Amino acid sequence: MADLETFRDEVHRWLDANAPASMRTPLRSADEACWGGRKAKYPEDTRRWLAIMAERGWTAPTWPREYGGGGLTKDQAKVLAQEMAKLRLRPPLMGFGLEMIGPLLLQVGNEAQKRDHIPKIVRGEIRWCQGYSEPGAGSDLAGLQTRAVRDGDHFVVNGQKVWTSYGDKADWMFLLVRTNTEKKHAGITFLLMDMETPGVSVRPIKLISGASPFCETFLSDVRVPVANVVGEVDAGWNIAKMLLRFERNMIADAFKERDDRSRLLRLARRYVGPEQGRLADPVLRDRLTQVELDQLALDLTLSRSRDRLKAGQPPGPEASIFKLYGTELNQRRRELTGSIAGPQALGWEGAGFTDEELGLTRDWLRSRGNTIEGGTSEVQLNIIAKQVLGLPD
Ligand SMILES: Cc1cc2nc3c(=O)[nH]c(=O)nc-3n(C[C@H](O)[C@H](O)[C@H](O)COP(=O)(O)OP(=O)(O)OC[C@H]3O[C@@H](n4cnc5c(N)ncnc54)[C@H](O)[C@@H]3O)c2cc1C
Repeated sequence: MADLETFRDEVHRWLDANAPASMRTPLRSADEACWGGRKAKYPEDTRRWLAIMAERGWTAPTWPREYGGGGLTKDQAKVLAQEMAKLRLRPPLMGFGLEMIGPLLLQVGNEAQKRDHIPKIVRGEIRWCQGYSEPGAGSDLAGLQTRAVRDGDHFVVNGQKVWTSYGDKADWMFLLVRTNTEKKHAGITFLLMDMETPGVSVRPIKLISGASPFCETFLSDVRVPVANVVGEVDAGWNIAKMLLRFERNMIADAFKERDDRSRLLRLARRYVGPEQGRLADPVLRDRLTQVELDQLALDLTLSRSRDRLKAGQPPGPEASIFKLYGTELNQRRRELTGSIAGPQALGWEGAGFTDEELGLTRDWLRSRGNTIEGGTSEVQLNIIAKQVLGLPD
């Protein structure tokens, strides 16, 4: 315990001395975050913050030192997170590498794959995207048709992926391909693919929010080394499901409200106003209290689950509970924000709205996708019924 307190002092002093001032403000949008990668150009402070944190392995605090991680115990990692929160520090790096493919490779990748990919993920050199969904395979993911045919020490891949988040910005993709047409689940292989391989092309898709965060990805005679198979050929389905659990944990974790909590109260004071020290509208007061309590309960439960993950265990099917609850709670929060700010939360552009108000509209629209990405709410309910509660089909 004394060791942990010494560690806390050291961490605090180091962070305070080294974190650039501009990294001590909350992120205003996902665009301001550092996602790493070969293609992005980040401001100088963002790059420096990533570099010095990655040098210590603190972008991935609990990952093994031999692959560039921080090698911290889960208690030390918690201290680091607490001290970063105290200084209101931005995460030095975010993305699918840290949250999805990195943890997966640490669990089931072979030694060469770990040595090749994990250090680059820690340093934010490579940005990853996910090639799961296809035009005819979303909820029924195992229905995927992208075909991979063996040719010597390569697979030749042909097909189409869709809804590839940040496909145009990513350097590598982890994807599911069909290597056996006779068997549905037992004919799927999990591959790692460089997006610069000839035959890969991406086309952005525009969303209702106006942004284009995802793409269609077309694969035409793409040659992927057999060495890039994770696990065994035809045995990718279980690996695919393990990765989805990491993804669902990540999605739920993103809704652990940090700065947003005070934002909701601030907005309520501004747009509704107090009456005898309480929020004037009793119905809104009730809704706001309920959302905050539900959020607190989710945050605490997620923290417990995070502790388990840091102890080296992959998440189980209960990740579906967090995903379901976290995304639906986020939608309730966005609806409530709209009720609080009224017409001011319905602006799209123009002088009648502040930047923050325009952000409220876009956040609300973006939240509609939360209950679809990473598997819809209905699919999560099916998983919870079967795999968590053990109910019959
Ligand atoms: C913001 C966002 C980001 C995404 N990013 C990625 C990405 O990076 N990579 C990627 O591969 N994919 C990505 N996706 C795709 C996402 O995984 C799929 O949209 C999702 O799995 C649903 O598939 P679908 O769109 O084909 O809908 P469908 O599967 O066609 O579902 C349509 C409706 O039917 C319901 N339904 C289907 N089957 C059942 C069932 N068995 N029981 C009950 N109801 C059912 C669904 O719940 C849904 O309401 C993203 C999606 C969104 C919205």
